[in-house]
Amino acid sequence: MRINPYFLKLIQSADDSLGKQAIPSLEEIQDYTCLTDPLGEDSRSPVPNLVHKYPDRALLLVTNQCAMYCRFCTRKRKVGTDRLHVTEETLQAGYDYLRKTPAIREVLISGGDPFLLEDEKIRSILSSLRNIPSIEVIRIGTRVPSVLPMRITESLVRILRNFHPLYINTHFNHPAEITEESARACSLLADAGIPLGCQTVLLKGVNDNPETLKKLFLLLLKIRVKPYYLFQADLTQGTDHFRTRTETGIKIMRKLYGHISGMAIPTFALDGPGGKGKIPLTPRYIKNKGKNLTFENYLGEICTYPETGDGI
Ligand SMILES: *Cc1c(COP(=O)(O)O)cnc(C)c1O
Ligand code: SF4
Repeated sequence: MRINPYFLKLIQSADDSLGKQAIPSLEEIQDYTCLTDPLGEDSRSPVPNLVHKYPDRALLLVTNQCAMYCRFCTRKRKVGTDRLHVTEETLQAGYDYLRKTPAIREVLISGGDPFLLEDEKIRSILSSLRNIPSIEVIRIGTRVPSVLPMRITESLVRILRNFHPLYINTHFNHPAEITEESARACSLLADAGIPLGCQTVLLKGVNDNPETLKKLFLLLLKIRVKPYYLFQADLTQGTDHFRTRTETGIKIMRKLYGHISGMAIPTFALDGPGGKGKIPLTPRYIKNKGKNLTFENYLGEICTYPETGDGI
């Protein structure tokens, strides 16, 4: 476990929404359902610390350290342990693979949390990736803006802004994580022209209701972070007690669409076990397909739309 002083201060009690994310629970060792490598990452790893699952993008793991170890982490088999071992050699092997695989046009840098590395190391990774002509977009996945926002410094941002197009997807799960400090961190990044997205995990007892998520997504928009994904919890060993039924997420999404800004609404998705990829789960608005498409709007009113083509 790791809980830094900043996040500890935000926790009011062990079983509140922030406490549950950070403090170990006995339920973690009473999980008989979940898997150690739920996304089949290890079998889709052509070189150590690189996962190539989709045709045009790849995931590069650059550190095993995080500012806090989330109890529900998908990669908990590795983060904070030497099963995720990053060296200059593994990084070079990753760059070589990317150079030899020009179909990859986007690289996601993750870990662990890339912003736990020193500024100069971050610069060196970004510049090595930028030197590979086939890589168009660089994306960093980091929870630092929500769990250690003071790590987003002027000097870090001065480095990042040299590597555009650079996107950052951060990770907020609860409105109480949006503080003056996290808002300042996101502002610094956004002011450097870095588009910010958020990957939220749907967690039982933490944020599994429409009011909490609505508040979170609207607050994120205000700090210039676009909700990107809401994830169904992965089948990760030791995290079964955080899982909700998929229907819970779908019902929550129905309470969001149309009721709040479309910009505040992420895609609810399930990451298929065994590396099958992300599957969007959406409420069923379509009632009937045929000459007329019959559907329900966000208020539950029935509408039709005449299809074009045969017979019309
Ligand atoms: C999630 C993920 C991606 C990125 O998927 P997007 O839908 O583009 O966000 C890429 N590679 C791996 C291995 C992933 O798990
Ligand atoms: S910050 Fe991300 S990688 Fe690190 S423990 Fe939390 S969920 Fe896992």
